[in-house]
Amino acid sequence: MSRIKANRIDLTYERYSDEFDEKALSVLRSGWFILGNELKAFESEWASYIGTKHCVGLASGLDALWIAFRTLGITAGDEVIVCSNAYIACVMGITMNGATPVFVEPDEYDNIDASGIEAKITDRTKAILAVHLYGQCCDMDSIMRTAKAHGLKVVEDCAQSHGNHWKGKRAGTFGDIGCFSFYPTKGCGAFGDGGAVVTDDSALAEKIRVFRNYGSEKRYHNTVVGANSRLDEIQAGLLRVKLGHLDELNAERVRIAERYTKEIDNPCIKVPKVRPGADSSWHQYVIHCDRRDELMDYLDGQGIDTIIHYPIPPHLQEAYNYLGYKKGDFPIAEKYADEVLSLPMYNGMTDDDQTIVIEALNRF
Ligand SMILES: *Cc1c(COP(=O)(O)O)cnc(C)c1O
Repeated sequence: MSRIKANRIDLTYERYSDEFDEKALSVLRSGWFILGNELKAFESEWASYIGTKHCVGLASGLDALWIAFRTLGITAGDEVIVCSNAYIACVMGITMNGATPVFVEPDEYDNIDASGIEAKITDRTKAILAVHLYGQCCDMDSIMRTAKAHGLKVVEDCAQSHGNHWKGKRAGTFGDIGCFSFYPTKGCGAFGDGGAVVTDDSALAEKIRVFRNYGSEKRYHNTVVGANSRLDEIQAGLLRVKLGHLDELNAERVRIAERYTKEIDNPCIKVPKVRPGADSSWHQYVIHCDRRDELMDYLDGQGIDTIIHYPIPPHLQEAYNYLGYKKGDFPIAEKYADEVLSLPMYNGMTDDDQTIVIEALNRF
């Protein structure tokens, strides 16, 4: 019997392979690979899908975060509020600008506890990074209210939230800038690296458009010291194909998630909760279990792969020793790092494979 993998992005390629193959070949044959019509079309389609005026394609999700904060003027000496259980790239997007991350613990929905933000605001606080982890929006009402009251910018990290909503509006439409990653395993995943920002602010969009291409508006005329962070034509073209199926892919993940939630029945396993007002695109289906390592080994023995998102919170990463944190400083994030487990969750997962996972969980 073959193992059940935690993820199978190959199945999504197979499902639409005719369309992907045709698009890839058409770009190869076009002889135009950077900043062309596929990118223009994707940017306009992504902006309209998410519900913003503008989208600017970039080279990765990390670049989207880095460039978003940079364009908002966030720099050394500034503080940015972020959840303590964030993915490392969220924090790097802040520190690459010389700014300091200020951590707020997550709530029972695995996202930032918005009621904890106020207490962390200082004279130096410039922005809040709302990370919509695992496919579910943060409490954007509270976050936007707090940001308004204190004159803070809001950046949304939607890398794991492609198409899901908070009260009927999609992730990425609430703050000043929404940041996306199109890393292959993400909802609208590319076939290589990719990213984007979305915004309603035309001036910000234009600044980012210039910055991503060496700071040049007009070829060989450079107005600012920029970067090379462009979403290439092949990825943009393939993303257009993927976007055409994103709603059906998300709907399939919702069905898989609902079955897990309904049928997992084991007192030592806590299934994920969805915040009232939010829906989830189920980038990950993350359970909590006090005996997580034991459970992971057990599932491994049953031929089931799982992943931990994430085993070490940012404040305890060696890279961030310089921030001076120690174990115990963010006990909820540390506890989550010890108890979260992402179950197999992918488009094309069969009912039979899901039955095997559910029965193994319930037997444990
Ligand atoms: C994947 C991810 C990123 C980084 O995106 P890359 O394209 O890999 O640079 C940032 N934030 C979150 C929450 C992510 O999941």
